[in-house]
Amino acid sequence: MDNAFADLLEANEKYAATFEEGGFDGIARAGVAVITCMDSRIEPLRMLGLNLGDAKILRTPGGRITPDALTGCILGTHVLGVDRILVVPHTRCAMASGDDEAIASKVEAETGVNIHGALLGASTRQRDALHYDVELLRSHPLIGKRAVVGGFMYDVDSGKLNPIE
Ligand SMILES: [Zn+2]
Repeated sequence: MDNAFADLLEANEKYAATFEEGGFDGIARAGVAVITCMDSRIEPLRMLGLNLGDAKILRTPGGRITPDALTGCILGTHVLGVDRILVVPHTRCAMASGDDEAIASKVEAETGVNIHGALLGASTRQRDALHYDVELLRSHPLIGKRAVVGGFMYDVDSGKLNPIE
């Protein structure tokens, strides 16, 4: 276990040695919340020209508005200064490559592990899912009046964020 994280802890030592950004609160300084995918090709702050402290970042498989992401949006808009919310799925997302059954079958084929029946939230109808999630936030009684909500598709090959909703 110790060895599994050694390289990361070593890197953190260097990070902390020159860290000079402590001491401020958790308010989103740019008033921004981003809900996007867990995909490793996405850098939520950098792609928006934002820095540490500027935004709340909520990452879920596929960038879907899961119950936890919804909770984050409610807290963000009420106590953390969020007044702009970006919902950002992306191109070539595994969660848009099939439905839950297809993803479960892929997991089973690759690992032999059966996760059929798990609620994954996968769908090939990615644009429809984005529309649904944006409407969910806009119409939510605790969010819609406190924040502007936009839906965007992030292109992992060009780095471009395309407004959709
Ligand atoms: Zn993804």
